[in-house]
Amino acid sequence: MNYYIVLILIAIIFIYHLFILILRMNSSKRPIPDNLKDIYSEVEYEKWAKYHKKSVSLEIIESIIKFIALFILFAFKVYAKFASLFNGELANQVLGVVLLSFATDFLIGIGFDYYKVMVLDKEYGLSVTKIGTFIADEVKDLVIGFGLTYGLILFIGYMHKLLGDWMILVVFAFMLVFVLVISLIVPTLMKIKYRCDDLEEGELRTRLLDLLHDNGYEVRKIGVINQSKRSTTGNALFTGMGKFKTIILFDTIIDQLSTDELVAVFSHEVGHGKHKDTIKNYLTNSISILLLILVSWLLINYNSLYTDFGFETVNYGFTFIILSEVILEIASPIRGIIGNKISRIAEYNADNFACSLGYGEALASALKKLSNSNMADLNPHPLIVLLKYSHPTMSDRLKNIYSHVLIKQEEKND
Ligand SMILES: [Zn+2]
Repeated sequence: MNYYIVLILIAIIFIYHLFILILRMNSSKRPIPDNLKDIYSEVEYEKWAKYHKKSVSLEIIESIIKFIALFILFAFKVYAKFASLFNGELANQVLGVVLLSFATDFLIGIGFDYYKVMVLDKEYGLSVTKIGTFIADEVKDLVIGFGLTYGLILFIGYMHKLLGDWMILVVFAFMLVFVLVISLIVPTLMKIKYRCDDLEEGELRTRLLDLLHDNGYEVRKIGVINQSKRSTTGNALFTGMGKFKTIILFDTIIDQLSTDELVAVFSHEVGHGKHKDTIKNYLTNSISILLLILVSWLLINYNSLYTDFGFETVNYGFTFIILSEVILEIASPIRGIIGNKISRIAEYNADNFACSLGYGEALASALKKLSNSNMADLNPHPLIVLLKYSHPTMSDRLKNIYSHVLIKQEEKND
């Protein structure tokens, strides 16, 4: 019975993914909102539409192949067969399943990654990645991903063997610390893949320090990351808990934006800090982690799930596969709707904070420039926004920002 339920669920998940991708594919047919007409020139928009079509088509092909592979792995009980090649030790049994899962994902993904980064994005001027960097990135992602996943599953497995049901508490406490530590060492983690220099002395540095200082923060470091080695897309990060913050700028964003616009982007980030969004995020994440651990515990104790797929007894690696490929995927629309709604409200509030400091117009022009260079989709389907968008659409953000700019101007005139 479990066998058929899982297979049917995998098929439903695939159809859902396909439906989302087809909706995304069609967004170039929808009219551009009036307030975004100046983002792309006519030639650029045509170029964007072509790029969008090709990159979504690529995702559709990839999701079809992934579905077929996953379906075969489950339908022919390959996980258990592969794990039986290893000896019966807990660590080896888990290794067999996790290895098979990572190997399939890697072998399917690498070709698509290569085509996207090294061919398609290059053709459209979004990527400048050299083959050496591409290979190094792929290897680092694989090793880190595999190491973390395998380590975590083993930890949960041994805790369950040792403590039984009490493992819920221990694993939960461990995960709370783990997530906190990861968020604190983001700048260090980025050094695995990027070179990070200190921002040189000058107007930008002084104004960023002033902005943070005026709002009660201490700056630990302003780092610049060499993203230009890989692509032309820009980004900026603002990390750290409490008063102490680390700012990380991608060098691409420094090239694209004026000093005013860069300070505006960070006044938005300061807004997140002022509204305690990092702490709120941490609390919501904690609830999701607890739910995940409870579900894992239910799965671990559901013996027929393993025997139906060819295992003799519980395999913690297979628990992880069911959790990540089936349960999380089935729950993803609900998680997406709730999580993204909360996030979009926080984004509006952070924009409003930037406006209150007088950076509304500079923020709007920064967002427009970034939409252009990131080849953003200007008019996503409302259903995609509801399910997938952690930020409001560019059109909605600009409407909101300009309404605040107007209010501020009227206040001045009075
Ligand atoms: Zn934000």
